Amino acid sequence: MLRQIKVVYLSFISLLIGMKVTIRNFFAPSVTLDYPSKKQPMTNNYRGMVDLKPEACVICYQCIKICPVAALYLSHKQVPAGDKKKNEITKFTFNAELCCFCGLCDEICPTDAIFMNKMYEVSAYSHDQIVNIDLMDAHKYTHVSANYDFAAEVKRNNDNTVGKVIKAAPAPVAAGASPAAPAVGTSAATSPTSAPAQEAKDAPAAPNPTTPEQKQP
Ligand code: SF4
Ligand code: SF4
Repeated sequence: MLRQIKVVYLSFISLLIGMKVTIRNFFAPSVTLDYPSKKQPMTNNYRGMVDLKPEACVICYQCIKICPVAALYLSHKQVPAGDKKKNEITKFTFNAELCCFCGLCDEICPTDAIFMNKMYEVSAYSHDQIVNIDLMDAHKYTHVSANYDFAAEVKRNNDNTVGKVIKAAPAPVAAGASPAAPAVGTSAATSPTSAPAQEAKDAPAAPNPTTPEQKQP
């Protein structure tokens, strides 16, 4: 009888100890997140999907040339601007299937036009959804993530100065002056400022992701 009372007593004490832990953590601040209704903010140097601020792009092709897997495609044309001409992007696409998320395009861009956003919910049902993504489209990723917000991504990128080297946009080339040499392995056939043959037509200077010569990751 005495033994049974002792067992009941110890069980009750054990229950109280367990409840003490439960009650203490019930009122403690939560260490987990109620995902997916709440999202964990990504770190400043997190590399999500490649994104673009089209108005900041000066069509220098440096991101195209540095990409090790030919995941980017850019072409442009010249359009009249008063009594002069100006370059205008005709196509700027991103192939997420090839991208190795190295961030080199982000680093090389002289105007911070191309950048890695903070998306991490990027699963897709088919290859078609992640190839030839139109970087000029502000809704470019809404088909793979309903949470994609272009304005928020741009603001986050503008506010984030981690690892960002603030560089001035290349100075416009004066009339009659010879254009400056491109910084990264730019050939005459691909430089938008040095190829007369490109005038008023598309300049498929970048390696086309659909061509057989493309490098694979
Ligand atoms: S992150 Fe790297 S692999 Fe991806 S598009 Fe940019 S340069 Fe190319
Ligand atoms: S490096 Fe920047 S400015 Fe140059 S073409 Fe790419 S996105 Fe545009």
